[in-house]
Amino acid sequence: KPVVAIVGRPNVGKSTLFNRLAGNRISIVEGEPNITRDRVYADISWLNNAFIMVDTGGLEPSNDDLIKNKIKYQAEIAMNEAELILFIVDGKSGITTIDQEIAQLLRRTNKKVILVVNKVDDFSNAEQLKWDFYSLGFDEPVSISAEHGKNTGDLLDIIVDNLPHIPNDNERDDLLNIAIIGKPNVGKSSLVNYIVGDERVIVSDIPGTTRDAIDTIVEKNGVKYNLIDTAGLRRKSRVKEAVEYYSVLRTIRAVERAEASLMLIDATEGITSQDKKIVGYAHESGKAIVIGVNKWDLVDKDNKLMEDYRDEIYYQLKFLNYAPITFISALTGERVDEVIKLLEYSIDQNNMRIKTGVLNEVLEEAILLREPPAVKGRRLKLYYATQVGIKPPTFVLFVNNPDLMHFSYQRYLDNTLRKAFGFIGTSIRIKLKSRK
Ligand code: GDP
Repeated sequence: KPVVAIVGRPNVGKSTLFNRLAGNRISIVEGEPNITRDRVYADISWLNNAFIMVDTGGLEPSNDDLIKNKIKYQAEIAMNEAELILFIVDGKSGITTIDQEIAQLLRRTNKKVILVVNKVDDFSNAEQLKWDFYSLGFDEPVSISAEHGKNTGDLLDIIVDNLPHIPNDNERDDLLNIAIIGKPNVGKSSLVNYIVGDERVIVSDIPGTTRDAIDTIVEKNGVKYNLIDTAGLRRKSRVKEAVEYYSVLRTIRAVERAEASLMLIDATEGITSQDKKIVGYAHESGKAIVIGVNKWDLVDKDNKLMEDYRDEIYYQLKFLNYAPITFISALTGERVDEVIKLLEYSIDQNNMRIKTGVLNEVLEEAILLREPPAVKGRRLKLYYATQVGIKPPTFVLFVNNPDLMHFSYQRYLDNTLRKAFGFIGTSIRIKLKSRK
């Protein structure tokens, strides 16, 4: 994976930026115990790109000579190890002699350097401010506020645009885990058997300590699927509560392990309260969901039936309005291929990242089209939005006061994002944060 290094004099906000960018995307943070203690690494993935960020900051010396030595050392590490260097300067204090010295060092490298002007809290004069920093001799500076998270999404966009594309872990992991969930006798095992058919089963029924699901790994069209059949071992128990307890546990465990859940509903029975419960766990996990109405071969069909069925399911399971529905038969194999394609598509959507610029454009337009309703005489103001996570796609909206959000408006924004970006088969989360 390519390495991105952060370089700059003390107190320009290197660590703040590092923490901001790494955020909850840190999967490994390790110092190098014996060599130096003051380098921090983070594995970051953004827009399906993965890179390693290194913060060479650490302890900041206060004595001028020490600072210079330290910076030389930082810059050397950066120039040797990194594909890309973020050179951080302070928009509040302007250019200092140390900044100029660092610039001089960095100009000698043939690595790409992105000049980042930090502590720009007031974006109304950001353009003006940028000009001051052109004299350092790099391309157009990027203005940010690491502390307030302003423009840091744009910065990530610029970083990945300047890196060779390395797929992130999701893309690389070639095993797609799919939980097949649903009440007993809905056809889970039958479906697994149909999919496996005469394909090569790589591993079946992995023995383990907790045998609450049966894993079947099968390769189809070059993709390896792990079908997690939650029917698992049928525990014999006369106590109804115990049976239910175990089936809930199986479902939750399988859903947590999977990238997507396929929820089976029995076409001959319609939605039951048990169905609602089971699919509720999948919804809460935030992973991709596809609904398969199974045993469709047993249903007397006319043209309108599928549509009516869909309406009924979305009516009964309102929270699942994002999940695609297909009508299948584990017996005849009708539309089983389609269901697999839908699962893959939903997994992609569940991992989707929206570029910060595009996201803000879409939201700005939505607000122009319909302004937030007044709540207690005041109105919600939306300043800026950024995506902070995937599985499910999660957005943070910086607003004047989160209490001013009306549920109808939240739903409007939700729908706006779905209209613009799809998000088929995945829930999305919108969080509000106040910004003074
Ligand atoms: P599980 O408990 O969810 O794993 O359900 P099974 O796969 O054991 O299926 C329960 C019963 O439904 C079996 O008798 C299957 O033959 C039958 N079945 C499953 N899928 C279909 C289907 O698509 N059409 C029909 N007609 N029967 C099915």
